[in-house]
Amino acid sequence: MRTLGQTFITVNQRPEQVFVRGRGSWLEDDQGKRYLDLLQGWAVNNLGHCPDVLTQALLTQARQLVNPSPAFYNRPALDLAQKLVDVSGFDRVFLASSGAEANEGAVKLARRWGAKRRGGAYAMLGFDHGFHGRSLAMMSASGKPGWDAIYAPMPTGFQKARWNDIDSVQCALTSDTVAVMLELVQGEGGVNVADKGFVRELRALCTERDVLLIVDEVQTGVGRCGRLFAHQWFDVQPDIMTLAKGLGGGVPLSAVLCQERFNVFEPGDQGGTYCGNPVMAAAGLAVLNAIAQEPLLEQVRQRAEQLSGGLVQLSQRYGLKGERGLGLLRALVLSSDCAEAVVVAARELAPVGLLLNAPRPDLLRFMPALNITEAELQQSLALLDKALAQVLSAPVHH
Ligand SMILES: *Cc1c(COP(=O)(O)O)cnc(C)c1O
Repeated sequence: MRTLGQTFITVNQRPEQVFVRGRGSWLEDDQGKRYLDLLQGWAVNNLGHCPDVLTQALLTQARQLVNPSPAFYNRPALDLAQKLVDVSGFDRVFLASSGAEANEGAVKLARRWGAKRRGGAYAMLGFDHGFHGRSLAMMSASGKPGWDAIYAPMPTGFQKARWNDIDSVQCALTSDTVAVMLELVQGEGGVNVADKGFVRELRALCTERDVLLIVDEVQTGVGRCGRLFAHQWFDVQPDIMTLAKGLGGGVPLSAVLCQERFNVFEPGDQGGTYCGNPVMAAAGLAVLNAIAQEPLLEQVRQRAEQLSGGLVQLSQRYGLKGERGLGLLRALVLSSDCAEAVVVAARELAPVGLLLNAPRPDLLRFMPALNITEAELQQSLALLDKALAQVLSAPVHH
């Protein structure tokens, strides 16, 4: 047994594997063992590990210009912003590096608009079990139990309503509320899909009360859910959208998108050293060009159907509580708190391991590469079957 990470500030427990190489849906550790990866950098590598388009874009831009400073325009940032506008229906883009940073930018934009146009309204309304990042303010915006206490005192002005409950939103809205912020599928919260009716009513209510609707598509955006953006499934147009994770395809890149009328920052209000960095922007443009294609999105929907069907079968075979999700962001609900044991069993399978994630003690989350093949997904489901068999008592019928 090795003991690694002695020089890291302790933040979490990690397994002993050291990963050295990745290609598509496959990862390899320094012992030469291969794994099918259904984590993909935490729903980040939407084209899998080291896709040629991403590697090429990084290499080409890195040779040409790495950082002219955020005080100047650069070609990849301009091109990425134009592409985002073209494919999204939003008018304006701010580029940043992480999901938390993009969400902070969205909140700042909403508060600036509230100060200028809504008589100083500032309060944000979020949802129980929502997740918006790990900066102090985004921990306040998130609805994760316990997160109001561990770093107290926390930034204020963040209220919560109940998920999929329009009455609870109605009750929570006050004249101080400037924006409602939500994920259309709560990822970290356990892959909770918003009801279509709820989202439509929320959109109507926000319009009626002159409150901004901010969708956090950090995890659901850029093809993850089988459309380029998850809100397209819900037939609503948000006022502000944030993207990260899949946008960079593996590198740190995020974006705030807004309609023209919310373009209200004054010069100097917002910025950041790495905002609009050309190497990251070039990567994002290459990834977005590859994903914003109907044949690829259709393939995501087909793989989602395959994954969903496979999980339903496993659920029946092992007497579990079913599966849910949207596109290739899915979860299998177990019947006891053994998700971590399944994650470990799957990882330790030989000769090929399977990499999974357990955001809750009784739930497994699946976020494979959008271009995972039918055969790779079939093999992943077979490996999951093996891991479940090891952890749970003998299957009901095999
Ligand atoms: C991951 C995530 C974030 C935070 O993104 P970081 O890049 O880790 O800061 C925010 N919102 C949602 C919905 C996420 O899934």
